[in-house]
Amino acid sequence: MRKPAVLVLLATAMVHAQWKTPWAYNGPTGPEHWGDLDPEYAACKGRAQSPVDIRATVKENLPLLAFQYKSAPLKYLINNGKTIRVNYHDASGGDLFALGVRYHLTQFHFHRPAEDLVNGKQYEMVAHLMHESDDKKAAGVAVLIRAGHANETVRKLWDHMSPAEGPEREIPGVEVTAAGLLPPEFAYYTYRGSLSAPPCTEDVVWFVLKTPIELSRQQIAAFAKLYPDDIRPVQPLNGRIIRESK
Ligand SMILES: [Zn+2]
Repeated sequence: MRKPAVLVLLATAMVHAQWKTPWAYNGPTGPEHWGDLDPEYAACKGRAQSPVDIRATVKENLPLLAFQYKSAPLKYLINNGKTIRVNYHDASGGDLFALGVRYHLTQFHFHRPAEDLVNGKQYEMVAHLMHESDDKKAAGVAVLIRAGHANETVRKLWDHMSPAEGPEREIPGVEVTAAGLLPPEFAYYTYRGSLSAPPCTEDVVWFVLKTPIELSRQQIAAFAKLYPDDIRPVQPLNGRIIRESK
């Protein structure tokens, strides 16, 4: 049966509502072109971009990170055409305290493989936990992922993720906490970078946790079936210092 034209139009509008100007991880709208696709993406040509290859670091006595994530109903699960993401529009996901600043968890999502490299090593996946302070400072926590045991939080997400791009969905009766994506230790690398996808906004302070978490091979394969390669290549440091907690 043919879909009524108005429904097709609505669906198209919803799909494209994610980003004003479409972009991709490869091809003519791929990463090397992002900065020219839309004036609002001009930061993609900036000098403090993410991801990076973490090689030379400066070891310092940096303060510990403190996570106060909370379990909350899974309200805003979305396949946005680039990744699987959980949004928090109401700060219900809890807080991160980092370098003297309190941030609220705004969303988390996944990439395969990982984006930031560590001494050239690329992990199987990465979870990006994104945060914002009351005065709109942005902080990202990157949790590297290797193959191993299944992750219970990811199981809940994958059980309910849409196989195709679509709007945010509420999943009744399911609660998740981003704490389920944290490793047991929070030693970290930190540097100033950007969102790693358009609009590539800079002034994001990144914390790349040194200790990875595990997903099962099946969990990694389930994500790879949807998004086998949703990463941006590493960007030049341009003199930026990467600090490492002791
Ligand atoms: Zn990301």
